[in-house]
Amino acid sequence: MRGEMAVPGWARRTAERVAETHGGGPHVVVTGISPSGNIHNLREVLVAEAVANALKERGSEVRFVFHADTIDPLRKIAPGIPKEYERYMGHSLSHIPDPEGCHASYADHFLVPFEESLREMEMDIEVLRSHELYENGVYTEVTRESLENTAELRRILKEVSGREMAEDWSPYQPRAASGSLTGNRVVENLPDENGVVFVDREGNEGVADYSKGEGKLGWRVELAARWKALGVTFEPFGKDHTSRGGSTDTADRMSREVFHYPVPGRYEYEWNYIKGQGAMSSSKGIVLLPKDLLRIMPPDALRRMFLGRDPARAIELDLGGGFPRFMDEYRAEAGEPPVPFLHLVTVAQTAGGNTEAAAGMLSRGGYEEEANDPEKLALDLHYARNWAEEWAPEPLRLRVLDEEESTDAAAGLDDEQRAYLAEVAGKLEPDMEGESVQDMLYTTAVERGLKPKKAFGALYTVLLGKKSGPKAGPFVAGLPEDIVRERLSV
Ligand SMILES: [Zn+2]
Repeated sequence: MRGEMAVPGWARRTAERVAETHGGGPHVVVTGISPSGNIHNLREVLVAEAVANALKERGSEVRFVFHADTIDPLRKIAPGIPKEYERYMGHSLSHIPDPEGCHASYADHFLVPFEESLREMEMDIEVLRSHELYENGVYTEVTRESLENTAELRRILKEVSGREMAEDWSPYQPRAASGSLTGNRVVENLPDENGVVFVDREGNEGVADYSKGEGKLGWRVELAARWKALGVTFEPFGKDHTSRGGSTDTADRMSREVFHYPVPGRYEYEWNYIKGQGAMSSSKGIVLLPKDLLRIMPPDALRRMFLGRDPARAIELDLGGGFPRFMDEYRAEAGEPPVPFLHLVTVAQTAGGNTEAAAGMLSRGGYEEEANDPEKLALDLHYARNWAEEWAPEPLRLRVLDEEESTDAAAGLDDEQRAYLAEVAGKLEPDMEGESVQDMLYTTAVERGLKPKKAFGALYTVLLGKKSGPKAGPFVAGLPEDIVRERLSV
């Protein structure tokens, strides 16, 4: 899948600007998130991926990194996490046990499923865990530099963010014996030993070795330090970071004035909203997980959905009634067979898991091309069926009634309707095409002096337990003939 999607214009223009300021490469494109809850921010990763692809298209070598902030302290308990996790507040996410016991840590519990989705999307990305980077010494030099320039970093933070800064502020957060990264006070730097002396909340003194991951840089400083430590040339940001006095403002100045490192290229993206729910937010539990979305659409459709036409604009994701139209547009652009997604939804629900039966329905409906590629068809039916089960508005959900349910449903029909169904059952022939069935259903109603709405209503009642449904001819033609005949004999 990857690479088939053309590089969008905005990504190409961004790559051009990155190349102007940072040269021909190799480039390091980075994106990252704190795995403190369900990870949903696919937009940031996809913006980064598009720019990485645009840089590659220009002939540059690109390292594409997902920086998982696993060493970050726990600040907020995610929805669904037991209350006793309060005691881990301030501890590194990588050092907290998995609340459900299925992964190595709290961080991995949220990170691993996201990583699996990135792999399923065939993304050419390296996932780095920040606690390992600290433990392996990747941050040692920038931490030393930060500690040496404590006064200057403090001044920049104060000037840019307008916050009052404590006299004894340190860019470094050592980990106390309790496990907490917060509330500890650095009292002395030991540059020759890669360490700091600190006093914890209880007044106990300790030493932390910053070349071994025994603490981390505060996150505003870490942002700029990370650019230098990893050689970053491009990073996208959501608008919360780029507001005045925000984290990119402080990082830009720290990068230039303290780390003497050129500020990476940037792209500011807008939020994703979910129709009827609001902006996506893991702390509010308003999330769509990539793994759930990959159940209803292929990776490139997901890319299109999350990027929209221009990621600098907000998008509202509609997985309910608006989704079939989105899929039709995506499929048309991708040059896929022109079967309307809603038709696939009807076919998928009618044929169950039987791809051969579905192919029969599609070719009788005039969609030979889709019917002739069983592998692709099986996948499309899988997406359509999952959507029908998990997201479709009620009127689009179909299930052919079993014999007993059908008999119960038929109890509400009058004699005229029963007679109509009986006549139709007698006229059905094997391998009739959708349009011929449609004609026969209609003509029979007219000949009997029965209003079509009443006639078709009877048909939907005994087949689906509803008063209406998908276009009757192709629908009936797609069902096994014996089942239709039996349901119609009431
Ligand atoms: Zn787990």
